[in-house]
Amino acid sequence: MLIAYKFRMYPKKYQIEKFEQHFGACRFVYNFALEIKIKSYETDGKSVSRFVLNKMLPELKQENEWLKEVNSQSLQGATLHLDNAFTRFFREKKGFPKFKSRKNPVQSFSVPQGYFVNLDRNFVKLPKIGVVKTIFHRQFNGDLKTATVSRNNAGKYFISILVDDGIEYPKTKIFNASTTIGLDVGIKDFVVTSEGRKYDNPKFLKNSETRLKVLQRRLSRKKKGSSNFKKAKLQLAKKHEKVSNQRNDFQHKISFRFVSENQAIAVETLKVENLLKNHKLAKSISDVGWSAFFEKLKYKAERYGKTILQIGQFEPSTKICSNCGYYNSEMTLSVRDWVCPDCGMHHDRDINAAINIRKFALDRQNLIGI
Ligand SMILES: [Zn+2]
Repeated sequence: MLIAYKFRMYPKKYQIEKFEQHFGACRFVYNFALEIKIKSYETDGKSVSRFVLNKMLPELKQENEWLKEVNSQSLQGATLHLDNAFTRFFREKKGFPKFKSRKNPVQSFSVPQGYFVNLDRNFVKLPKIGVVKTIFHRQFNGDLKTATVSRNNAGKYFISILVDDGIEYPKTKIFNASTTIGLDVGIKDFVVTSEGRKYDNPKFLKNSETRLKVLQRRLSRKKKGSSNFKKAKLQLAKKHEKVSNQRNDFQHKISFRFVSENQAIAVETLKVENLLKNHKLAKSISDVGWSAFFEKLKYKAERYGKTILQIGQFEPSTKICSNCGYYNSEMTLSVRDWVCPDCGMHHDRDINAAINIRKFALDRQNLIGI
């Protein structure tokens, strides 16, 4: 199976210049290809294939000498990158591909092959760039596929290496009602389970987020473009990076736990779009990062042969009594717990929803939910 490993890189000054060259050239090719594609759609409604775009690269290099200093496979990687962006746009209804900006601190280029990794001596040898110090904090084995060199918001460099370890994906394990867990994601707690457990974002993450707001305010008071502004901006970017790392750690831990302790996991399709209409909720939703959590759940489930059961977003998981099926039409967002007028059962709003999510998902599979 394919696994991506990400490591921090420590390029020397002259190597940073080479990185910049690669970022710039790949961005240039990406934007060039995007423009060709858009124009072609506009003029005759036809799509231009990646094959055709790659065939234009030699001529583009003749017109722009500086492109020759860059690994040509990285340039072809840029058209692949664009292809993928279009696939996401058509298949997953993600946004239309955008032109890349030089001003964005986040930049990347891919190295499809021809690079060399030395895990013991902590370096990667990249074509047209050379030996770059890279700290391998973990070992890996297998065929090296595409590597991607990137710069993040805080100006740090990374390499993400896709490795095929030669191991087949495990067969999907059999599940039943007793080995399936239901998860409800929410604002009050990050995740609530059908077993009645609640997992909230850890306190250190909340503290970091508070600090983030302070830094944001500080930046807004600085004069744009001044050296103090730049300093504050970098400080903010570093804090953002820390928050995102902490959030990822937390999500990795709990998603691994759900995947390892259960054979199937029932979740509800995210209602983010609906919820975002409510401005008060918008901030906390963007902070909790549910979709990032679901991504982690999905790929971990695939890796361990577990099943994700997803139910539709219009199923009334919060409004139905999980004990007797009574429909409570008076449920609003502020109701945290309630007593079913029909069977008298006392419900915690989120736990009841998690139990229903599990039940609806199992019903679909013709398995009897408890
Ligand atoms: Zn009831």
